[in-house]
Amino acid sequence: MNVKDGVLFNGVRGVILRAMASIEPIMEASGEFTITSVKDGTHGPNSFHYVGCAFDLRTRHLQTPERVESVAKELRETLGNSYQVIVEKDHIHIEISPQWVALNGDPRKVA
Ligand SMILES: [Zn+2]
Repeated sequence: MNVKDGVLFNGVRGVILRAMASIEPIMEASGEFTITSVKDGTHGPNSFHYVGCAFDLRTRHLQTPERVESVAKELRETLGNSYQVIVEKDHIHIEISPQWVALNGDPRKVA
């Protein structure tokens, strides 16, 4: 696992650390496992990034949209219902799912 310079992990939730650990085999097999954002960066006003409940993965090594979708599918299968895997223009975004929030509460409201 690699972490891009400047990425902030302070306050990252256990649920996200567990996701990072569980996807390691998939991402290493894909050719690169680089986390490009956790609590840092600029995201939507209601983003789970700000409460340590989301992270981004580099995808440029995958080269084609088809490879990105294929890896995203593997990530969804491995991560299960507690997470959402969203393919963005130049990265894959992973955050806690509505099901996780229903069970555990919305960390944006208690943070
Ligand atoms: Zn993101």
